[in-house]
Amino acid sequence: MKIVVDRSLCTALGVCESLAPDHFEIDDDGELVVLRENVSPEDRDAVEAAVSGCPTAALKLED
Ligand code: SF4
Repeated sequence: MKIVVDRSLCTALGVCESLAPDHFEIDDDGELVVLRENVSPEDRDAVEAAVSGCPTAALKLED
């Protein structure tokens, strides 16, 4: 399972970072960085929370 970001929708407010900090980070320039694209089974709940918590629906999970 892999994280896909639609950068045209991302406003870099960092909700995803707060819910899944192992996978997402807002860098010093205010840009979203995906630290790890691939989602291991143990991280799945946190990443799914980030996907549903994203206020602009910029995140998707793909198999
Ligand atoms: S929560 Fe959504 S809009 Fe906010 S930084 Fe993450 S991907 Fe971008």
